[in-house]
Amino acid sequence: MTDPEDLVERVRDGELRLHELEDYADHDTAAEARRLLLERETETELEAIGDYAFPAEAAEPNIENMIGAAQVPMGVVGPVPVSGGAATGDHYLPLATTEGALLASVNRGLGVIRSAGGADARVTKNGMTRAPVFRVAGVAEAAETVEWVNENGDALAEAAESTTSHGELIDVEPYVVGDSVYLRFAYDTKDAMGMNMATIATGEACEIVEAETPADLVALSGNLCSDKKPAAINAVEGRGRSVTADAVIPGELVEERLHTTPEAIAEANTRKNLTGSAKAGSLGFNAHAANVVAAAFLATGQDEAQVVEAANAITTMDARENEDGTTDLYASVSLASLEVGTVGGGTKLPTQAEALEVLGLRGGGDPPGSNADALAEIIAVGALAGELSLLGALSSRHLASAHEDLGR
Ligand code: NAP
Repeated sequence: MTDPEDLVERVRDGELRLHELEDYADHDTAAEARRLLLERETETELEAIGDYAFPAEAAEPNIENMIGAAQVPMGVVGPVPVSGGAATGDHYLPLATTEGALLASVNRGLGVIRSAGGADARVTKNGMTRAPVFRVAGVAEAAETVEWVNENGDALAEAAESTTSHGELIDVEPYVVGDSVYLRFAYDTKDAMGMNMATIATGEACEIVEAETPADLVALSGNLCSDKKPAAINAVEGRGRSVTADAVIPGELVEERLHTTPEAIAEANTRKNLTGSAKAGSLGFNAHAANVVAAAFLATGQDEAQVVEAANAITTMDARENEDGTTDLYASVSLASLEVGTVGGGTKLPTQAEALEVLGLRGGGDPPGSNADALAEIIAVGALAGELSLLGALSSRHLASAHEDLGR
């Protein structure tokens, strides 16, 4: 076995580079040597970072220059009954966060949803996108390229799908800006989040576009995809899974458990999430969907940078009058671009794989795509619970102070 001290010396002597250590030792020893080096150079002790619970080799596809692990506390919320297109029955949802009170709040919302009989959830659109940018001489060549693309969907699909046994090309949407042509490729990536899959497939399709049209590829990603940037195109057209969860909560339950009324929650939602967000020029019209999305992403091994667009959601809350004079609360959350997978990426890491097992969604689904659909639906119900709980808290405080002001 290689001595980590020996590796440290060889790095210090300039004989080895920091990223090459796995070529000379097993992965855990390489990580230990990097920690030793870093501890000495930064006068720190990295005991906690080095105290990780999985073989470093398991993380090889996920990290370079590994020194250990960032451990984020993980908790669980639920169970909650979900009636989805893919998810059915009761589910526990593991969430990883450093924000105290988040799980308590989501759990309160889930408890209300559970007492109301559960939530419905559906994935209404599915397409992971990659949008390369091409250079043309001007608009005449741009139009020629767009026409060819529109007439040759089958050839593009054949090329793209030659690189994957799971991915299917659904659509190619062209956009022209001056002498730039953007082609937004959208794929059904089944149970994979699909960003690698879509990128590799699109690279292959670009070769025929270049061969058959005057367009020259400038960049495989032209930012109309749009990955890890706040962008209206994802909010409007969707990316990954577009998913909605909704529930009808009897007014009695709103009063008993959230100490407010359907009307007060609906008003808080309109003035805060809709009007306030519009005035702020926000892309998201919700209270804190990012909290549940980010915590679920960390727990289940999703690409955390995609929280940027994955948390883009519109929350609606309406008071619905019944014929018997009672009022229900209709509550919904629609996430436009939730990029999730149950295979690939970080989902294979041991703790994340266990979290997916808790959900019953580890690995590929039967049929393919059903596990990732179910994960999207359950996260959407979690986000709905978070919205309900926070709006309930805001409007009950308002109600309490209104009672104080008006009732005395
Ligand atoms: P991946 O780990 O690269 O690939 C997953 C592969 O799993 C698929 O390509 C597929 O192989 C296979 N697979 C097995 N069973 C499957 C099933 N039931 N459904 C779907 N696929 C199945 O993962 P990815 O989802 O394509 O990409 C996610 C990774 O990309 C993350 O690590 C993320 O951080 C990273 N990322 C990459 C880019 C980029 O531009 N390249 C951008 C952002 C993020 P076949 O294709 O052979 O069928």
